[in-house]
Amino acid sequence: MKSISIRNLNKTYRAKGCADVPALRGVSFDLPEKGMVFILGKSGCGKSTLLNVLGGLDNFDGGDVIIDGRSMKDFSAKDTDRHRNEKVGFVFQENNLLDEYTVERNVGLAVELQSEKDGGDLVAAALKSVDLEGFGDRKCNRLSGGQKQRVAIARAIVKKPEILLCDEPTGALDSDTGEEIFNLLKKISNDTLVIVVSHDRESAEKYGDRVIELKDGQVISDSAPAETKLTETETEPEVRKKSCGLPAKRAFSIGASFLIARPVRLALCIIICLLTFTCVGVSDSFASYNREKAIADNLVKYKTPYYIFTQTSVYDLANLGVEFGYIKNIFNETEYERLKTLVKCDRYDKVNGFPINSINGSFYTIEELRVRHDKYDETLSFHGIVEFDESFVSDYGFTLYGEYPQSYDEIVIPDYMFEGFKTYGYTPKDGTAQTVSSYDDIIGKTLSHKHRAQLGEGNYEYEYWTYKIVGVLDTNVNKKVYDRVMYKEYDGNKYDAIGMADNAMTRYGLQEAMFTAKGFYQDYFVPKLQQINNYRETDDYIVSVVCPITGGKKAMLQAARIHERYHSELNAENRYNYFMLTGDAQEIVDYKDDTMDLCKTIFFYTALGTSVISALFVLYYVSGVVTEKKRQVGILRSLGASKGDIFKIFAAQNGIFAGGLIALATVFSAVTDVIINSYLTKGYVAKAVFLSFSIRQFAVLAAVAILAIAVGVIIPVIKILRAKPVDIISGRK
Ligand code: ADP
Ligand code: MG
Repeated sequence: MKSISIRNLNKTYRAKGCADVPALRGVSFDLPEKGMVFILGKSGCGKSTLLNVLGGLDNFDGGDVIIDGRSMKDFSAKDTDRHRNEKVGFVFQENNLLDEYTVERNVGLAVELQSEKDGGDLVAAALKSVDLEGFGDRKCNRLSGGQKQRVAIARAIVKKPEILLCDEPTGALDSDTGEEIFNLLKKISNDTLVIVVSHDRESAEKYGDRVIELKDGQVISDSAPAETKLTETETEPEVRKKSCGLPAKRAFSIGASFLIARPVRLALCIIICLLTFTCVGVSDSFASYNREKAIADNLVKYKTPYYIFTQTSVYDLANLGVEFGYIKNIFNETEYERLKTLVKCDRYDKVNGFPINSINGSFYTIEELRVRHDKYDETLSFHGIVEFDESFVSDYGFTLYGEYPQSYDEIVIPDYMFEGFKTYGYTPKDGTAQTVSSYDDIIGKTLSHKHRAQLGEGNYEYEYWTYKIVGVLDTNVNKKVYDRVMYKEYDGNKYDAIGMADNAMTRYGLQEAMFTAKGFYQDYFVPKLQQINNYRETDDYIVSVVCPITGGKKAMLQAARIHERYHSELNAENRYNYFMLTGDAQEIVDYKDDTMDLCKTIFFYTALGTSVISALFVLYYVSGVVTEKKRQVGILRSLGASKGDIFKIFAAQNGIFAGGLIALATVFSAVTDVIINSYLTKGYVAKAVFLSFSIRQFAVLAAVAILAIAVGVIIPVIKILRAKPVDIISGRK
């Protein structure tokens, strides 16, 4: 059972700086359950105000409206939402349809705001009752005024309201169309209470079951006053329906339609946002540049097969006019053991060198070849001795072609050196060059080392020590990187990062090591050297220590940190023994070290600056978009959308925007990082990794976007929702 009783209703509009406008002054009447009631009066007499109060679009100052025994004064915001949602249907003079939607969606929206269920049948029935069958797919902005008004009526009645409130529903129509609409409303009033506000006395008298006339906010006549038969206590309390909000799927699709309502502006905004956000992402990649991480990244990139650790001392050479001098040291046993405690590797292998003071000059493989091809001497000379066995080969993941050395005059050469022979041929001592194209061509051949035997003061002669090649060890050299060095292009003058890396790998790694049987160095090589020389400085000349790379990125970072310590303390102390991670990754990273250090500082501020600019721009755009949708919000509110529903819609709209923006900015930043990396190593054979887009940059982008959007949405939405629905629809606020 329903009843509406208006008691001594008062409402005055008060605005700062303006005189108070009393719109309703003690209006009282009761309304019947059904029929067509006209509220007649001249413009400005308070008709709309009365209707808006009845519909819960506006509040009042004094008196009361009692609906089904409940005073509207006791309505909470939720109750008002529910009242609009469940009991009332509105038809406005300007139909207030959502023009960008189809007829079906406009009408369907009213059902969706009420329940989870899809109101397809209800919508069809409502369209049928307003004679608009078959118009469901039509966009509203392609309808005539009368048709639009009928859609508005269908939208108002689709949820079967108890009261239909119509504010000058024919005001914008010609008289024939107006008649049509009045006939339609009359039909509806057979089982619904229809209240029509109008200034058209003729129509009121023609269609109205009852006409209430207002003047200056007061009732001056009532054609058929209903008996006051209801009091607050007489009625049964209403049975509350389950509260129901806008389904998320709907909120999402409304949000999406809000978003694409202005595609050009959206596209422009996305382009600008992508520019500024990519700046943020890339700047932060620079700002978060970390040498250890870059070294680890490049170890991965170059598929470096093993770590090489060397030892370096830094001397203050101020007295020589140089600020610092670097001297690559040799390890002694103590330092070798210390390194083992710092780096956790599965195994450690020494690369033995040649005691400087016992050998006059360097250690060359084939004197003749060196002279002929001095440009490529690196490829065809040994830089160290490594004793090896089966476990070494399998632990490093290498492949041995041929045999293991069985005696001290048998050796295995590295694949890198084989490539040299392949390019320049094998030239035996006192012989002519022979072509080498496969491992088998070099296996069985001999190599001679030339040593100077000290015979006395200023008196020496050369001695040749000859070894037989019994195998070739593939040490997994990254041939793609060293291609230029190994074959043609490299010349010593172009001493770029790859050249340095090659130098490091060959001098201290396994690329140019002579692989011998166990015990070779201490039991055979050193004693033999002692025979032809008078003294040696160290017992075990360790040039470098190599370890197979296992354990992933974390282990690599730890290894790289050894190197980092050297860097960070470089200028702090006078003379220190530092362990260095040596090799292609480190050389390439170190090559750009100063550049990156400078960029790191500059781009930290750039990242900050661009973040602020990006955030401000997004905030500006988003809040503008929200404000622009104010009228739609008002319409949705008059259809019964709660504040929560409105939040849901804007959350969906901007969630889509944020998601798209973050995803695109991520891709753009990551790609730009790759381009910058390639630019930084322009001219090099290998493209190193300096910048990498990681979770941190993603977090920064997401944080800037989400924060700016949240602020940009929440503030204007709160502002809109604070205003009364009637003010939003009419555009007053
Ligand atoms: P009607 O619908 O009968 O033309 P209204 O109910 O719209 O009249 O307005 C009644 C009076 O209240 C008018 O004098 C109008 O100017 C005034 N009024 C209506 N709305 C507002 C408002 N939001 N702020 C100030 N005055 C208002
Ligand atoms: Mg009005």
